[in-house]
Amino acid sequence: MSDKKKPVTIATVWLDGCSGCHMSFLDLDERLVEIAPLIEMVYSPVVDSKEIPKGTDVGIIEGAISNEDDRAKALKMRAACGFLISLGDCAVTGNVPSMRNVFDQKECFDRSYHENAQLQPMDPTVCVPPLLDKVLPVHQVVDVDLYVPGCPPPADAIYYVLSELLAGRQPDPLLLTRFGK
Ligand code: SF4
Repeated sequence: MSDKKKPVTIATVWLDGCSGCHMSFLDLDERLVEIAPLIEMVYSPVVDSKEIPKGTDVGIIEGAISNEDDRAKALKMRAACGFLISLGDCAVTGNVPSMRNVFDQKECFDRSYHENAQLQPMDPTVCVPPLLDKVLPVHQVVDVDLYVPGCPPPADAIYYVLSELLAGRQPDPLLLTRFGK
């Protein structure tokens, strides 16, 4: 029987964010090779899988919660993942997406789809999930186990967080990152 340790399963989702937090994850560069044998990416924009497997060890959410689709994905992540990380300022505070919170939806739609439209101004009605009234940080929708701020959090901070978790320790991300960094 093999005594090889089972890899830690990781799922990541990209909600209302710019993907910069996922790019920062990829900026681990050669350190990805180092941790690759220890983890298994079971769901992510960077892998081809359709469902978040139940019993996933670690979930990582990038982006704020701006629409019904974001909210449903956050709930699925919480239900599927044993430990949930809110990654980056958009997930932790709402950050850039929440700048629309000072306007009502009609003002946002008028600005985006009428005032600035050069052809066929109209509100989107199909193939787009309904917007929430206000953009929410992840923890206002689901419980979060660890906050990793930064815009984006630097690769060193992400590497530190993952290494500590893989070693069975609780990381303190504020040693390496902070809001707006
Ligand atoms: S925190 Fe910054 S880098 Fe990450 S998704 Fe938001 S805007 Fe992009």
